[in-house]
Amino acid sequence: MIAENISGLKQEIGQNVQLIVVSKYRTIEEITKAYAAGQRMFAENRVQALLERKEALPDDIVWHLIGHLQSNKVKYIAPFISCIQSIDSFELLTLVNQQAAKNGRTIDCLLQVHIAVEETKFGLSETECEALIAQAKGLLNVKIKGLMGMASNTENQEQVKKEFLSLQTLYSKLKEENNFDTLSMGMSGDYQLAIAFGSNMVRVGSKVFS
Ligand SMILES: *Cc1c(COP(=O)(O)O)cnc(C)c1O
Repeated sequence: MIAENISGLKQEIGQNVQLIVVSKYRTIEEITKAYAAGQRMFAENRVQALLERKEALPDDIVWHLIGHLQSNKVKYIAPFISCIQSIDSFELLTLVNQQAAKNGRTIDCLLQVHIAVEETKFGLSETECEALIAQAKGLLNVKIKGLMGMASNTENQEQVKKEFLSLQTLYSKLKEENNFDTLSMGMSGDYQLAIAFGSNMVRVGSKVFS
C-alpha cells in the first residue's frame, strides 16, 4: 500500500532526511495515491515523462530531475523545476543558468558525482566537481546546494559503504565553504546505509510503490 509505505518510510528516516519519491515508470493513478498520502516531492529521470506528469498532476508538487539532462531540453523544465540533481558538466550548468534567468528564477542544483565502480557515462569525478564549483561562481541564477550520487548496484555492502564514504567525505570537505545543505544519496535498496553515511535526502521509488 502506497500510503503505508510512505508513512513507514518517513517514520524510519526521521525529520532530518528528506524523502523524494521517484515516480518514474509509475502511472498517474499510483502517483496520485502518493500525493493523497501527503507526499509533495517527486522525482523523474526523463524530461518528456516529467512534462507529462507535471501537466496531469497538482500544481503544488515539487519536482526534481534525477536523470541525465540533454542541453536542448533545459528550456522545457526551466519554468518550473525545483531542483536538478543531475548536473554533470559546466556547459549544462551554464545553460540551466541562462534558462533560469530567462524565467526570472533561480534553480537549485546538485552536482552528480560518479562514485560507483560501474561504467556509466554520467557523473563528475571529485576533481571535476571541485573545478566546476570554482567555475560556477559567476552564475547567479543557479544555486548549487550539494551533491548527488548513486552507489553500485551490488549485494556487496562493503563496496557500497566505500562509495557512500567517498561521497560523504567530499561533501564534508566542500560543505562549509560553499554553503551546501544537501547530500542526496540512497535509493530503495540502500537508503538506510546512505543515511548512516550522512545522507539527508533519499530518492526512493520501488519501495514506495510495491
Ligand atoms: C530510479 C532511481 C532511483 C530510485 O530507485 P529505486 O531503487 O526504485 O528506489 C533513485 N535515484 C535515481 C538517480 C534513479 O534513477
